[in-house]
Amino acid sequence: MWTGQIRLPFPSFGYLFVLVLLVGNEVWAQQPCTSIPALKSQAVSSIFGSEQERMLGDIEAQFVEQNYLVLHDDESAAHLNTVARRIFSQLPSEQMRVRIILIDTQEPESFSVGPERIYLARKMIRLLKNDDELAGLLGHELGHILTHQNAIMVSALFHEILRVNSVSDRKDISEKFTRLLDSIDGNKKMLWKASQVMERQEAIDQYEADRVAIFASAAAGFSAQAFLDLFERSAGTNGRTRNLMTDIFAATSSDERRLREIKKTLMQLPKPCREIAVASSKEFRTWQAAILSNSDQAAQ
Ligand SMILES: [Zn+2]
Repeated sequence: MWTGQIRLPFPSFGYLFVLVLLVGNEVWAQQPCTSIPALKSQAVSSIFGSEQERMLGDIEAQFVEQNYLVLHDDESAAHLNTVARRIFSQLPSEQMRVRIILIDTQEPESFSVGPERIYLARKMIRLLKNDDELAGLLGHELGHILTHQNAIMVSALFHEILRVNSVSDRKDISEKFTRLLDSIDGNKKMLWKASQVMERQEAIDQYEADRVAIFASAAAGFSAQAFLDLFERSAGTNGRTRNLMTDIFAATSSDERRLREIKKTLMQLPKPCREIAVASSKEFRTWQAAILSNSDQAAQ
């Protein structure tokens, strides 16, 4: 998720970008920006198998769509899909039918739910300046999906809140998910416990998703720097970073640490890949204006 407003999904460590760790800059420099580090898949902390993960996504989507206004705008979908296809084709997501769903929210938000859905708020689209930023944002959400962060986060919540360590069919998952929400709702102690679980896992999740965004952007020929620009603008960190010492001796906001990680990841790209310029696109501006101005979109 981009802003951390909704936190149904998520998890942690693990899938390092193995090639980045093993392959030095020299080797990278000889390659075009078309290859990105491999994701190491993990299933260690998730109690959901792939079919169960899909079911969980359906159940969560139902919950999300009861609480947010879903926008239907077929005309605007074409441009969004063009950018999404470029990013998604860099990652092993072909077999997953990831859909992008436009919603209206109070704050600029984007988040992924289960393995098949990315929710993108109109207020988030308003924040974007170009296709390169859109690409980075989609890459970030896809990063959450590819590393199964949603299923891992729910696994942790099931364990900590419900003492549940396994799931079976759709009915069972739905019943447990509803019980989870009921347990947290109006119970301060449980809410605190749940937020501890989520905060613990979220920071690392974001780093991973940011990494996917940066590598996938460059591989797809977008400006990876644009992802940093978007982050700085939306997180309001204004480019401030602190060094390791201040991390130890003084509290820094997670946004600042995240900013530093993003800059570090950018530096891991070969120079030519890092320096891809933002493309000025009339299509982007037309698409953005159409979405923002269309107040007649049917809501369901
Ligand atoms: Zn995120």
